Amino acid sequence: MNILFMGPPGAGKGTQAAVIVKELGIPHISTGDAFRLAIKQGTPVGLKAKSFIDQGLLVPDDVTIGIVEERLQQSDCEKGFLLDGFPRTLSQAEALDELLTRMNTSLDHVINLNVDRGLLMARLTGRRICTVCGASYHLIFNPPKQEGVCDIDGGALYQRPDDNEESVGKRLDEYDNKTAPLLHFYENKGLLRQVNGENEIDVVSAEIVSLLRG
Ligand SMILES: [Zn+2]
Repeated sequence: MNILFMGPPGAGKGTQAAVIVKELGIPHISTGDAFRLAIKQGTPVGLKAKSFIDQGLLVPDDVTIGIVEERLQQSDCEKGFLLDGFPRTLSQAEALDELLTRMNTSLDHVINLNVDRGLLMARLTGRRICTVCGASYHLIFNPPKQEGVCDIDGGALYQRPDDNEESVGKRLDEYDNKTAPLLHFYENKGLLRQVNGENEIDVVSAEIVSLLRG
């Protein structure tokens, strides 16, 4: 089964993906991991990607598609895959379609995790990280026992610069502008499945599993 996960930053894609791939026995393909692997293995397209990254440039779509293609051709993807973090734009979605057609396959489901913007903002701006061990906390959803202090090692907690209200707002706007049009693309193909991402983690997982099995 070939699945694509969509949803804004903070919607819980990574958390849900981890549950679903375990349930279905398919690999979780995040583009970040695929990039790191291709660069580490020094594949031709990995080297190409590295040259852009080293220069601080955005990796062009054709290189990204090449990375995804390499990853999807590995043997663990034979039974299917869960793709997360890609495509991000309409042109990438079209390129992915062409790639899958070339591979004689296609997407079965596009899961969209819906979460209200106010809740996304609360989830993302409330994150705090331990300066010592990197443990992650949340002011509302997972607070430390003592304010500003790590439960594990007593290290001071800090907020990533990316997680302030202004940066989060920009990321959410960018998602709305670039990625949300993809939803129409997949809706027209009859692949889009809407899931309420505001529920508890296990409630959301159960809804996704029943959608995929239904
Ligand atoms: Zn710590």
